[in-house]
Amino acid sequence: MTASTRTHLSPALKQATPIVVDHGKGSWIIGTDGRKYLDFTTGIGVTSTGHCHPRVVEAAREQVGKIIHAQYTTVMHQPLLALTDKLGEVLPAGLDSVFYANSGSEAVEASIRLARMATGRPNIIAFHGGFHGRTVAAASLTTAGTKFRSGFSPIMGGVHIAPFPYAFRYGWDMDTAVAFALKELDYLLMTMSSPADTAAFIIEPVLGDGGYLPTPPEFLEGLRERADTHGIVLIVDEVQAGVGRTGKFWGHQHSTITPDIVITAKGLASGFPISAIAASTELMGKAWPGSQGGTYGGNAVAAAAGVATLDVVCEEGLVDNAAAQGRVLLDGLLALKSEHSAIGDARGLGLMQALEFVDSAGNPDAAAALRVQQGAIDEGLLLLTCGALGNVVRIIPALIVSDDEMRQGLDALSRTLKNVL
Ligand code: PMP
Repeated sequence: MTASTRTHLSPALKQATPIVVDHGKGSWIIGTDGRKYLDFTTGIGVTSTGHCHPRVVEAAREQVGKIIHAQYTTVMHQPLLALTDKLGEVLPAGLDSVFYANSGSEAVEASIRLARMATGRPNIIAFHGGFHGRTVAAASLTTAGTKFRSGFSPIMGGVHIAPFPYAFRYGWDMDTAVAFALKELDYLLMTMSSPADTAAFIIEPVLGDGGYLPTPPEFLEGLRERADTHGIVLIVDEVQAGVGRTGKFWGHQHSTITPDIVITAKGLASGFPISAIAASTELMGKAWPGSQGGTYGGNAVAAAAGVATLDVVCEEGLVDNAAAQGRVLLDGLLALKSEHSAIGDARGLGLMQALEFVDSAGNPDAAAALRVQQGAIDEGLLLLTCGALGNVVRIIPALIVSDDEMRQGLDALSRTLKNVL
């Protein structure tokens, strides 16, 4: 990239690295300068099967030669039918109706539209630290940092934010944090948004941009109970946690619940833009024809890549690999935590893991997280920060990550921490 190109890109894009990529292969990114980086960012949890998995490349290449854009409300196309069949094999039983869009944010919007149409109720309850996207409605559900909201208000109304059981932040054990958050949710339902006005709860199985905080199963189960009691739609936003990333196919499968709506995107097509919401036929039937749609939604090439991605994830055992490598990763992170007092917490599920940094007084230390993320680049390791307060480094390898790559990643992280803390 030339200097002049850079000046013409909007400053609204915040660059995490100065790297210009030439190509990617598996867990690796190769810059135009010829340097090779172990990519533990996967395009923010997108390239689930690694960069340019041969089966995904082949499926997309073949589809490009057949038809690129077959608008799904005009003519249906085979890749979308095939993807819907494949998703039917992995979605929770009963969620057999699917609507497609392009991005996570659009799918979140579609889920909100559906919940409101189905219940005739206006309000949505989201959880503190959640990230659901950047469109105005999705941003109104997002509290993973003021940068996602500041300066472009008013955002969508009818949204209430309830506490998330962030045990580390409160300095509590998880049981206390869950009991507190459920109690506050009940209080909110009694004082701000009565059940009769509440269309949906929306929650991530692991808070993503908000800090890689696994949602405790007991909390999801508490939401399910309240949703059943009051006829509230339970939407689980699996945009970042779904498609094997947490070591189960869906993040909510670490609990006993079945959501009313599952939202998926990111890892679904290894980098091609496609997203979906899935619900029961009965619930989806509450959306009348024409109420959902979009020019590019369910694109044929993206859908073909989605079919290949699901084939690879299932046939190559990538969910089990994510669980196994996730255990190695978490063990490695816990070992690093015992060496560095600046690491307040090491946590995650599967290949969605994080380190939370604190200063000597135990307060969030965003500067330390940034030093680690930036310092890792010199060690050939790509990481991202996250957290509502910016003090978390997240580690998001591809689901194909090997033993050797995981060891190299942990070694590079260890060297980085020694260099910058
Ligand atoms: N929901 C979650 C849980 C996400 O992590 C994201 C993206 N980080 C979104 C929604 C929004 O997705 P997109 O950027 O594709 O609009």
